[in-house]
Amino acid sequence: MTENTTSQSPDHESTIKMDAKYVMQNYGRYNIVLSSGSGSVVRDVNGREYIDCVAGIAVNNIGHCHPKLVKAIRDQAEKLIHVSNLYYTVPQAKLAEQLVKVTGMSRVFFCNSGTEAVEAAMKLARATTGKADFVAVEHSFHGRTMGSLSVTYKEIYRSPFKPLVQEEKFVPYDDPDAIADAITEKTAAVIVEPIQGEGGINVPSDKYLQEVRSICDETGTLLIFDEVQTGFGRTGKWFCKEHSGVEPDIMTMAKAIGGGFPMGAIAAREGISFGKGQHAATFGGNPLACAAALASMEVIREENLIDRSKEMGDYFMNKLRNMSLDGVVDVRGRGLMIGVELDRKCADIVESCMEKGVLLNCTSEKVLRIAPPLTITKEQIDLVVDVLEQA
Ligand SMILES: *Cc1c(COP(=O)(O)O)cnc(C)c1O
Repeated sequence: MTENTTSQSPDHESTIKMDAKYVMQNYGRYNIVLSSGSGSVVRDVNGREYIDCVAGIAVNNIGHCHPKLVKAIRDQAEKLIHVSNLYYTVPQAKLAEQLVKVTGMSRVFFCNSGTEAVEAAMKLARATTGKADFVAVEHSFHGRTMGSLSVTYKEIYRSPFKPLVQEEKFVPYDDPDAIADAITEKTAAVIVEPIQGEGGINVPSDKYLQEVRSICDETGTLLIFDEVQTGFGRTGKWFCKEHSGVEPDIMTMAKAIGGGFPMGAIAAREGISFGKGQHAATFGGNPLACAAALASMEVIREENLIDRSKEMGDYFMNKLRNMSLDGVVDVRGRGLMIGVELDRKCADIVESCMEKGVLLNCTSEKVLRIAPPLTITKEQIDLVVDVLEQA
């Protein structure tokens, strides 16, 4: 890492000032202005480098500005950036085929973000069942628009925006009986993350998803997996559902799907599909986004990033379990979706690691979330753990 010897670029102060003046202040931001990146490293406008264990929140799975992704976006941008879904495009059809292959589902619908994917999944569940209600779990995070917000657990996210789509009953995570009790004849679907991300990297017990699947089958309830954060190699499989062998009826994807290019999608099993006119998105599946997603999936395959995620994740978690940092309660995760739970709030550690050249994120107040690009090297992991030990 380069030491902080460079003087501050004029862009640093002016950008922060402009943000303060012109951008709604809904984000709590750190005092750095990022301007470039490659692989697992990002640079700020002062030329300082950071190992990026945030990766845009589990987005940059193939690393920053991967040359294949950059080339695919550039090539497609020269040909066609956007057309309406009134017409077919080659990249959209090709990406749909690829997604059906890797998800094992039957068909896909394209949108532009995680929350939109959850909205689409909820609408599809309602349209399919003719029922209105959803069962969600405690500490869930499914997004910030009205529908997805109503299945998102945190009261502070929801309370200013009531009434929502439905006043949910949230039941404890990793408790199949609680889901069985919550399902009524009005329930359209159960929605769960196969590993909870924002909720603190919570890994359920092995049988949980299987039992939830059985309950849904017995009661004729649809099962939605929100794989927005767990998808595209993050947990050491293409999708986290593969660890359990359980197939949902509908699954959501976003974050890493486009390698950093904004995109979302849902996939559903045979027999579950929107009919003509039932749903739409102007930008959904536009050629530029699809070209980016195709390139990103190709890099994941060519560079064997799925296996790498597992290997580096195991290496990382092992080092974290043996590091000398006071107050570590638990180290958990799968692949490179890792949580380090502390006995105190982790904001100070995040700040101190940033000063030492490592970006980390804190979720659920006491959990350090570690979700670097799947391209991270052992040397970089060693450096991150060194920095954590000094924090
Ligand atoms: C991030 C996230 C979302 C929301 O995605 P956005 O693109 O921010 O709307 C939904 N579900 C899960 C599990 C997520 O991690």
